[in-house]
Amino acid sequence: MDVRFPTSLEQHGSDAMHTDPDYSAAYVVLDTDDGLKGFGLAFTLGKGTEIVVCAVQALAGLVVGKSLQDIVCNFRGFYRLLTSDGQMRWLGPEKGVIHLATAAVLNAVWDLWARVEGKPLWKLLVDMDPKQIVSCIDFRYISDVLTEEEALDILVKAKEGKQQREDQMLRQGYPAYTTSCAWLGYSDQQLKQLCADALQNGWSKFKVKVGADLEDDIRRCRLIRQMIGPSNTLMIDANQRWDVAEAISWVTRLAEVKPLWIEEPTSPDDILGHAAISKALAPLGIGVASGEQCHNRVMFKQFLQASALQFVQIDSCRLGSVNENLAVLLMAHKFKVPVCPHAGGVGLCELVQHLILFDYICVSADLSSRMCEYVDHLHEHFTSPVVIENAHYIPPKDPGYSCEMLESSVKRHEFPGGDVWKLQIKK
Ligand SMILES: [Mg+2]
Repeated sequence: MDVRFPTSLEQHGSDAMHTDPDYSAAYVVLDTDDGLKGFGLAFTLGKGTEIVVCAVQALAGLVVGKSLQDIVCNFRGFYRLLTSDGQMRWLGPEKGVIHLATAAVLNAVWDLWARVEGKPLWKLLVDMDPKQIVSCIDFRYISDVLTEEEALDILVKAKEGKQQREDQMLRQGYPAYTTSCAWLGYSDQQLKQLCADALQNGWSKFKVKVGADLEDDIRRCRLIRQMIGPSNTLMIDANQRWDVAEAISWVTRLAEVKPLWIEEPTSPDDILGHAAISKALAPLGIGVASGEQCHNRVMFKQFLQASALQFVQIDSCRLGSVNENLAVLLMAHKFKVPVCPHAGGVGLCELVQHLILFDYICVSADLSSRMCEYVDHLHEHFTSPVVIENAHYIPPKDPGYSCEMLESSVKRHEFPGGDVWKLQIKK
């Protein structure tokens, strides 16, 4: 299904490259004979969602008719079936529209599995035997950096203290930062107000969109630094706006506001470019963060090998779902690079909280320099919306992967026939 929200009307989500996104999703519902359903989605920015939906339909033949048990007994095999179909892999492999579609389908399968087990997805993962977790990962193309044995070893080692970490998460939640205060299209007055409100609500880590105009960035970043004070954390995000040299000189000018990281300074495919930027900014104490539009585990492998990132940003829909994210979490752990997931859009906070909880409890066992993005939009459309308390993600309790949308929301926002869009078109 093609579900779109007209967020561009109020400039929510606006950045230097995506000035008018309508947060949308290719939304997948898996039906089963015994009535249980699995829900999955891949996030998009509006136009073209129909192409992802079309790719989902092309993959449907590989899923329909299978039993959940057959799939999860050989999840690596099923992942490969979707990503390595002899004809369809030409459309990727494992990148672009076809990989978004793969993620939407696999997200729905994981949701269904967690529902069958009566657990939220993070808990399903936490309770899984390390061997079973490893059996979900496709090590093809990454075994030169992470072997199955090493992955198993990491998970087995992290068993120590696992229960305490789970209890800790249930008590206090996973630390989050907010991107909601400083979209590029917001006025100064709006920035100030949103910052003041966020501080009041316990937020201490803030991300600002930059990259359209340097003088404007300096002014906005100073304003926010002033608002949040010297001890709170500030990150900046250019959404791929610059060439390498431009990124270095632009961020150098912004060093005075002491950003922790510059996110997506250049093309998401430019591994060596990121490495050059990292190296140049290291003396200024500014790290490079990227990954939300990284194609797959193979590219993440190279980012890590090239020391191109100081912060790894996984995405719950861009990568081929949970299976591939597990591989990235384990590789990042091996390279000692903290994972700070990308979220926001529609449903991304709902999804990725499960993965980062698993990361802390079963892989990294570390919270230093770690936080999960949070954006305060569109949660009201979900049956199990995220719960944020004192700037922390509180672990979800409902069974599944938290990406089921309210039926009424889907109906109203379906494109182009839903009421919301009929009204827009009339205008
Ligand atoms: Mg970003």
